[in-house]
Amino acid sequence: MFGPPGSGKGTQSVTLAEKYNLLHLSTGDMLRAELKAGTGLGKKMEAIMAAGELVPDEVVIEMIAQKIDSTTGKKGFVFDGFPRTVEQAEALQKMLEVRGMKIDLMLVLEVNDVELMDRMKKRALVSGRADDADEAVINNRIEVYRSKTEPVIEYGRSTGVSRQVDGVGSIEDIFDRLCSHIETII
Ligand code: ADP
Repeated sequence: MFGPPGSGKGTQSVTLAEKYNLLHLSTGDMLRAELKAGTGLGKKMEAIMAAGELVPDEVVIEMIAQKIDSTTGKKGFVFDGFPRTVEQAEALQKMLEVRGMKIDLMLVLEVNDVELMDRMKKRALVSGRADDADEAVINNRIEVYRSKTEPVIEYGRSTGVSRQVDGVGSIEDIFDRLCSHIETII
């Protein structure tokens, strides 16, 4: 599941995972859990996340590999907020390949910057996330998305798995749009 911060990746991924018996894997959630638990890793990542920068590739790659290897009873995975760089995408592809799996679909939620800012400001009131509370940090996250993460969409296009989805509308309508893409591959 792809899309800029505030595009609804998290919301939609959770429901899609339930519907299709997939494991929802959000690197953002995993990192926030480390922060909350006060682990050494969490402490190291805190300032990077608060500034809206990306944590090092190897940190998230390792987290994802561990989850893939410890999961049973699911039909697959919904990756949310990962891969976020071309290096992460290449690592994911290799990681799946050696385990006899592959990326089936890359759903890209498209939302304009004005709508994104608006949603993030609203989310700041309820999320309690430091990186949602500051307009400069939100702007930086969108900027980091455009410069480091958008190239991953090109990578997905070159392998034929990416689908663009209009991310503006009601949560239910967007969910239906996403499901219609999934239905074409199952
Ligand atoms: P959002 O997409 O709403 O900005 P996430 O919960 O996906 O939020 O991520 C929050 C923060 O966690 C990011 O700004 C970044 O600092 C860190 N992070 C999450 N996933 C990754 C990743 N795959 N690579 C590097 N940093 C990540």
